Amino acid sequence: MPKRNGFMCFAHEFEKTEKARGRRFRCFKEIIPIAGRIWEGMGPRQREPYIRMAEQRPNEARTAKVHEASSSHRIVTEEPIDERIIKSKHIITSIQNRLDQAALGEEGLDKEEFYAISMKYFCRRFDGGYVPAELGVAKFSIEDGVKDQLHMHINPVSIPIGMAYEAQQHANTHGLLLPPHALGETNMDEIAQKLLTFLDVKQEIPPLFTDAKNIPQVEQMLGEILGYHINGKTLYIGSMAELLFQLKQAAEYHMMSLKVFPSVTKAQQFLDDTTLISTTGISCEYHESLEFVAECALSECLCWSYTATLSCCLEMIVEPLPGKHYPYHLERMRLDMLRHELAVMDEQQIQSRKKESDYSEPANKRPRISNQQ
Ligand SMILES: [Zn+2]
Repeated sequence: MPKRNGFMCFAHEFEKTEKARGRRFRCFKEIIPIAGRIWEGMGPRQREPYIRMAEQRPNEARTAKVHEASSSHRIVTEEPIDERIIKSKHIITSIQNRLDQAALGEEGLDKEEFYAISMKYFCRRFDGGYVPAELGVAKFSIEDGVKDQLHMHINPVSIPIGMAYEAQQHANTHGLLLPPHALGETNMDEIAQKLLTFLDVKQEIPPLFTDAKNIPQVEQMLGEILGYHINGKTLYIGSMAELLFQLKQAAEYHMMSLKVFPSVTKAQQFLDDTTLISTTGISCEYHESLEFVAECALSECLCWSYTATLSCCLEMIVEPLPGKHYPYHLERMRLDMLRHELAVMDEQQIQSRKKESDYSEPANKRPRISNQQ
C-alpha cells in the first residue's frame, strides 16, 4: 500500500464527510479534483493536521477518537461503536444506581438533580467535527422542576472553506446569523469556563442528557470546547429518553412498588410531543423575537426538563408549578391535556395502588425491595 500524503488524507476525510451528507461519487478519482480545489485554498495551518496524520500513521486504519493535531485544529473521527455502547451502558447503570440510592437516602428521589443540554451547529467540517452555534443547559429535579438555566450563542468567527452553502441553509432553518456576524461569545475558553461553573464541576463532570440522535454531535462539540479545561475527565453524554424512562420507572417503583412505564420508546414519544415547544417565553431573546422558539437550544433543553419532571409529578405527589414543571405561558387546558397524556395510570389507579401497599413510612424511607418484577 503506498504511503499517503497530507492531501490524500484530506481527500479521504472529504469523501467520508460528503458521503455522510448523502453525496454520491462514482469512484475515488472523481473526488480528487474537487478536494484539490479546496486543498489549494487552504492555508498551512489548515493543512498541517492532515500532513501530520499522513506522517504519523501512514497506512494503518485510524482509530476513531477526537485527538489534537495542533493547538488550533483537531482531527475528528467518530468514536468506535463498541466504545459508545460501553459508555452508554455505563450511563444507564449509573442513573439506576443514583436513583436507587436517592430513593433510599435522606434527600429522596425527588431532590436528585440532572442536567439537560441542547447544542445547535452551523455546519459539519470536512474533518467530521461540527461548528457550534448555540448552547442551552437546564438543571432540574422532580421536586423543583427547572432550578437553573444557562444559555449562550457561540460565534466561531468563520465558517470552513467549502461549507458556506451548507452553513447558510442551516442558518436559515434555525434562524441564525452566520459568522463573522453571528451572535455570542467568540472565546471558547470563556464558554468552557461558564459551562463548568454552571455545572459546578469539582471532581467529575456530571452526566449531561440530550436528544439520543444528537449524542455524537454534542459529545464532539463539547469535547472540543472543554478541551484541556476538563483535564482528561470523561464526558458522559446520555440519552434524555433513557433518563426519562429510568426516572419514571424509579418514581413508580419507589412510591408504589411496581413498574408500569413501558419503554424508552414511550419516553421518546413524550419528549417529541410539541405541546411545550410551541409555547412562548421559553426560548432565548433572539429566537423569541424571531418567533423561532422551536429552533432554540434553550427552549429545547427546557422542554425536555419540563417533560421529564411533569411526567413524574403524579407518582411523586409533587404539585407542578408554572415556570418550574411547565412553561409560565402554557394554557390551563393544554396543561391538563398534557398531564393526562404523560400519565400511564390516572390518579385513582395510583391511589388504589398506594393503598395496596402496606408501608406506613414515606416511600423514600422504605427499605429497598429486592424481588422486583
Ligand atoms: Zn435561541
